[in-house]
Amino acid sequence: MTGCRRLRAVRLQLHEILLEAAQRAGAQIRLGVTVSAIHEDKDRVEVEFSTGQRDSFDLLAGFDGIRSATRLHLVGTTFTPRPSVRRLAGAGAPAG
Ligand SMILES: Cc1cc2nc3c(=O)[nH]c(=O)nc-3n(C[C@H](O)[C@H](O)[C@H](O)COP(=O)(O)OP(=O)(O)OC[C@H]3O[C@@H](n4cnc5c(N)ncnc54)[C@H](O)[C@@H]3O)c2cc1C
Repeated sequence: MTGCRRLRAVRLQLHEILLEAAQRAGAQIRLGVTVSAIHEDKDRVEVEFSTGQRDSFDLLAGFDGIRSATRLHLVGTTFTPRPSVRRLAGAGAPAG
């Protein structure tokens, strides 16, 4: 097979690698909390969390998956995800 290379990773290990890198970069990690509302100001963005706590930031980047609350806030339902007809029929190839 040419032009198709795969990289396999165990999801838990990938999470650990990303978590460590984020913490090394100084990120504060809040687990078990979701973003429930976003309010934009001229220079700041205020985020309301599922705990009811509110915080203000310079920048908000959303990586919150296919049903992203951040995307919904920014572009409404313009890019509402739709089911695809593509399916993964099989996975796995000889290691090479
Ligand atoms: C059963 C299954 C098997 C899969 N297998 C593979 C595979 O083998 N290889 C592959 O490449 N892909 C696979 N995928 C696809 C892969 O999981 C997704 O493409 C990938 O996880 C998308 O990453 P993401 O970061 O965009 O979203 P996600 O991984 O969905 O991450 C979004 C994160 O945002 C959080 N979040 C959601 N809403 C909020 C909110 N309001 N506030 C704060 N946080 C929020 C969620 O809790 C989650 O942690 C699989 C998917 C499924 C369902």
